[in-house]
Amino acid sequence: MGVDVNRVREIALKHALINAVKYGGKADEKAVISKVFAEDPGLRREARTVVGIVREVVNEVNSMGLEKQRELLMAKWPEALGERKVEGYRKGIEDLPPLPNDDKYEVIILRFAPNPDFVLHLGSARPAIINYAYKVKYTELGRRAKFILRFEDTDPKIKRPMPEAYEAIREDLRWLGIKWDEEYIQSDRLGIYYEMARELIKRGGAYVAAKDSRCTPDDWKKSKITGKPCYNRDADPSVNLELFDKMLSNYYGEGEAVLIVKTDLNHPDPSVRDWVGMRIVNTEKNPHPRVGSKYFVWPTYNFSVSIDDHLMGVTHVLRGQEHSVNTVKQSFIFRHMGWGQPETIHFGRLKIVGMVLSKSKLKSLGIGWDDIRLPTLAGLRNRGIQPEAIWSVMLQVGVKPTDATITPDNLFAENRKLIEPRANRYMAVINPVRVTIEGVPGEVTARIPMHPSYPERGFREITIKPINNTVEVYISGNDAKKGIVRLMELMNIEITEVHGNEARARFHSRDLESARRLNAPIIQWVPRDSVQITVRRVEGLRLVSDAGLAEPSIGNVGINEIIQFMRYGFVRKVGSNEFIYIHD
Ligand code: GLU
Repeated sequence: MGVDVNRVREIALKHALINAVKYGGKADEKAVISKVFAEDPGLRREARTVVGIVREVVNEVNSMGLEKQRELLMAKWPEALGERKVEGYRKGIEDLPPLPNDDKYEVIILRFAPNPDFVLHLGSARPAIINYAYKVKYTELGRRAKFILRFEDTDPKIKRPMPEAYEAIREDLRWLGIKWDEEYIQSDRLGIYYEMARELIKRGGAYVAAKDSRCTPDDWKKSKITGKPCYNRDADPSVNLELFDKMLSNYYGEGEAVLIVKTDLNHPDPSVRDWVGMRIVNTEKNPHPRVGSKYFVWPTYNFSVSIDDHLMGVTHVLRGQEHSVNTVKQSFIFRHMGWGQPETIHFGRLKIVGMVLSKSKLKSLGIGWDDIRLPTLAGLRNRGIQPEAIWSVMLQVGVKPTDATITPDNLFAENRKLIEPRANRYMAVINPVRVTIEGVPGEVTARIPMHPSYPERGFREITIKPINNTVEVYISGNDAKKGIVRLMELMNIEITEVHGNEARARFHSRDLESARRLNAPIIQWVPRDSVQITVRRVEGLRLVSDAGLAEPSIGNVGINEIIQFMRYGFVRKVGSNEFIYIHD
């Protein structure tokens, strides 16, 4: 038997691309040959021919250039890139505009600073992807770059951290292919913030408003309206240091004392005027999930974020437009302390039509955070969305300051490009109707390729044996209409009667040509010994279930495998007879 040249070329192409991408664009012929034989030892029998083919393919691959090699590998064998998911998005990453003043810094330091009050969703994952994309971009430019993960969990009461969220967020990031060089958790750093608060007071950059002092919390509030400073604002730092120590000694209750960062009492934006840097939280009543009731003086987000961005040497902050006022607020701490503020880029809001992207709203739905109905990364992952699709969408939206609106279809289109080549195709019918077909002249066999574009994956055969020239198959309720149809790869029939979930038909012909001539639609069918299946599908925030039958070879599909039910959509197998609908 001769060699199947196309098949050998395909195997050789895969290994040549993997090898070339790994070694800077040049595949090593010997290494590729041994991989090809390892994949199919049977080919050794035709070693000479196979080596000749491999040599040709290696030469072709080596003349492509690294960019093209990567692209092709990503398109055909994305799994070969394994962990290095970012690879496929090199182009999107290259297209990101350079960061401001990037030549001023020896190391570009970026951070992702989620509040672990919920898991990541399409909105909150965006800064993670964008910041990490810059780390990759600069590393590839031969620069030193660092990416920090920092959990901002200093609000034990209102935006209360969710204990499972810390690990769930790490898991989300790993899934996205994001690796962090350092990790910090702010609730471990309260001592640092207290020390910095003292320094800020000493420098005249902060004061305390306390119920038993010459500036009560109410006086401070009034000063923001009248523009007239309250007494402590201009008092000697020793007065405020003493009050701050009193705060730390657990003397005050909630709301009775606050540390205030001095800004500009006449600032046009009232929220920027002298803002709260630290407040008392009764952690006996609202224990922090990590440090319990150990602390009762907690920095606000704006306070700890400024301190940490400085101490961690963050050079560039890429955050959403919704933080632009925070950037202004934070600038006052930097000025008081004599620190340079990181270069900050605010990207526009991202709206996804029909999707809720507010943590508080998502939480209030009372659905598990990994439910397939939610746009959380865990929900999308369970649904069958690939991390690369999320990367694509985020890189397309980029860092532009203008708001962007996308539809779920944009995400699905990216996902489809990724899963279509991987997903083998199977026949399934929803709301099955049994069709009794008369006049079938003899045994018929359908030969169905696993994937028409990848003949090397093989095919399966389904043979239908008539009894008294009669056979039974199932078709989808939607397709059960009178007229001539082609049962895919099997035969053409004329449906003559439909009653509920029973139909009668007559054999018409076998060949595809006749079906084309008659304009007969090609429909899915399954044989009598098919398997009952259920497909769970998301409709808005509702979960609906489709019941159907799938061809018996569905049993060979592994759990978690993504396949396509032809003319229905892509699904992920989650149980022996259970599937989740991804998209069409
Ligand atoms: N913890 C903030 C957030 O989750 C970080 C944003 C920022 O400072 O850039 O929105």
